[in-house]
Order: sequence, then structure tokens, then C-alpha cells
Amino acid sequence: MKQILVAGGAGFIGSHLCERLLDEGNSVVCIDNFYSGRRENVVHLLKNPNFELIRHDVTQPYRAEIDEIYNLACPASPVYYQTDPIQTTKTSVFGTFHLLGLAKRTKAKILLASTSEVYGDPAIHPQTESYWGNVNPIGIRSCYDEGKRVAESLCFDYHRIHGVRIKVVRIFNTYGPRMAENDGRVVSNFVVQALKGEDITIYGDGSQTRSFQYVSDLIEGLLRMMATDDSFTGPVNIGNPGEFSMLELAKKVIEKTGSRSRIVFKPLPSDDPKMRRPDITLACSKLGWAPTVSLDDGLDQVIKYFRGRL
Ligand code: NAD
Ligand code: UDP
Repeated sequence: MKQILVAGGAGFIGSHLCERLLDEGNSVVCIDNFYSGRRENVVHLLKNPNFELIRHDVTQPYRAEIDEIYNLACPASPVYYQTDPIQTTKTSVFGTFHLLGLAKRTKAKILLASTSEVYGDPAIHPQTESYWGNVNPIGIRSCYDEGKRVAESLCFDYHRIHGVRIKVVRIFNTYGPRMAENDGRVVSNFVVQALKGEDITIYGDGSQTRSFQYVSDLIEGLLRMMATDDSFTGPVNIGNPGEFSMLELAKKVIEKTGSRSRIVFKPLPSDDPKMRRPDITLACSKLGWAPTVSLDDGLDQVIKYFRGRL
């Protein structure tokens, strides 16, 4: 039985990851400071004797005997990560630094949940891992983007200097059940607005694009990445190449929910990337991975989830 640490395990993605790791017979320690995650996301796992939930802030060192580490600790929604941007940078940088130290001491493998945001507002489309990105280092998104870029850089320095076994995954927009109702990201916002009959808020003219991946596809990709041999460090893109404009997404959500909500246009936040789509050639060849859930099927699941909650 492997001892696996999931930092940020009470968040949206982390809770699905903990569940899957337990299902596969591992022992899981979830550490989280509940900044953007919720105890409720993992409460159903507490009855499992192989699951432990610990309140801990990764900006402080954590000690444990561990075989694998998944570092997901960091708020991912722009609304959350911009609320306390200094804390966001500290979480990415100090958090990754401490967890790399733990990996070094215990000889554990460590996977970093990095992001497509390292590509910023990309000048290359679709984005390949070899693209260095176009990030504003002083903008309102930079606490998150640059925080993750430093986290990646720390992983590679620990790998080169201390031989730490690293796995860097660049995650593209992911959605699914257990996103918080007030999370602020586009899928949860549109679905909740549509179900409540409120205006659907498109920022800008809605022509900007994103590629949306259903959470189960991501979890499969993370596990496959962790299982690769030590010579494969990544970075590797994990995302669904289906690309949609926000206007298309809004119309899809209205149609699927049968909502009478109107679409309204609000100002576009600064530095909002105009387009995003992963090139997943590397993930396909190295992990034998490709997404399997279409946006239509994934949205049906999310709509069902929020209908149940509202
Ligand atoms: P989330 O906000 O639901 O989860 C993040 C979790 O980290 C939360 O439970 C939060 O409380 C915890 N956390 C934050 N700061 C912490 C700290 N200092 N110490 C301990 N725990 C802390 O977001 P998510 O969508 O589940 O994202 C998980 C990870 O995946 C993040 O690292 C995020 O950057 C990355 N990611 C997500 C997406 C996406 O679309 N969801 C895309 C790219 C990358
Ligand atoms: N967005 C929107 N309305 C909302 C929330 C977000 O139009 O209510 C837009 C946002 O401006 C961005 C896209 O949807 O262009 C994706 O936003 P999200 O916050 O989900 O993720 P990110 O920008 O980090 O990819």
C-alpha cells in the first residue's frame, strides 16, 4: 500500500483525486488549509481508515513518511487567487519549496499541478510544452501565473541538483461536480446563473476561447503521469483540445438547462487570455492518454450536480 500525500486535497480536483487514489487501495493523507476548498468535499472519505484529513498550510513545512506527493495546493479561480495575491504567490512558491524538500528527504515522487496559465496570453496556438509563454509579470493574474512558473522552476532545480523525481503537469481548464457554487470560474458561474434564472455574465464580447476538460479525464492523466518512469519529468499538457468561445458556452448552457436567462456583457478583466487550446501530442505518446468526456456529456453532469445543490 502506497502512502500518498495530496496537498490541496479538499479542493475541487483534489477531492476527486483522493477518492480515486483510495479506490485503488492506497493510503491517502490530505492536507489543506481550506482557503478555497471545503471539508464537505471529502467528508464522505473520512469513514475510510486509509484516509486522513489534516488542516495544514503548505507555506509551512510538513513532515511525513510518504511515497508520492501530489501538489495541488493553490486557489485556481481568478476570483479566489486575486483576493489575496500575496498569499497566492507564497502558496505556490513556499508550498512547492517545502513539498520538494519533503520529496527530497523521503525520496518520494512529486507531481506539481501546474497550469496552462504558464503560457499567459499565448502567441502560439495550440499551446505545446516547448512554448515559453507570454505572461505579464506585473498584472493581476501574475500572482498565479508567475507563482506556478516559479514552482515549475523549483521542481526542475530540485531535479537537476538533488535528483528529486518530479512530474510537472500543465492542467488546462477543468470542470466538474464539487466546483464551488461561488467559485467564480466560467462553467460554474454560467450553470448556476442559468439554473437560478439570473443573467449570464459574459466578460468581454465572448469571443475568447477556452478548452474544457472533465475532471475524470484529468484524474486519469494525473495517475498515468505519476506512474511513468523517473526519466519522464514533463512538463506535459493535460487538457481537452475541444475549443469553445464563451458565447458558445453560454448558449450551450442555456439550451441544456432550458433556462430563460439572458446573456449580458460585462467588462473583460485585464490580461484575460484570448484563446487557449492544448496540444496533447506528448500526453498521447508518453501516457497513452486522451480525454474521453465531451463538453456536452460533462456539462450534463455538472448541471445535474448543481440542480441537486440549489
Ligand atoms: P481549488 O481551489 O478547488 O483547490 C485548491 C485547494 O488548495 C483548495 O482546497 C485550497 O483550500 C487549497 N489550498 C490553497 N492554498 C493552500 C495552502 N496555502 N495550504 C494548503 N492548502 C491550500 O482548485 P482546483 O481547481 O481543485 O485546483 C487544484 C490545483 O490544480 C491547483 O493547484 C490549480 O492551480 C491547478 N489547476 C487547476 C485548473 C482548473 O481548471 N481547475 C487548471 C490548471 C491548474
Ligand atoms: N468568464 C466569463 N464570465 C464569467 C466568468 C468567466 O465570461 O462569469 C470568462 C473569463 O473572462 C475567461 C473565461 O471565461 O475569458 C474563463 O474564465 P475562468 O475564470 O473560468 O478561467 P481562466 O480565465 O483562468 O481560464
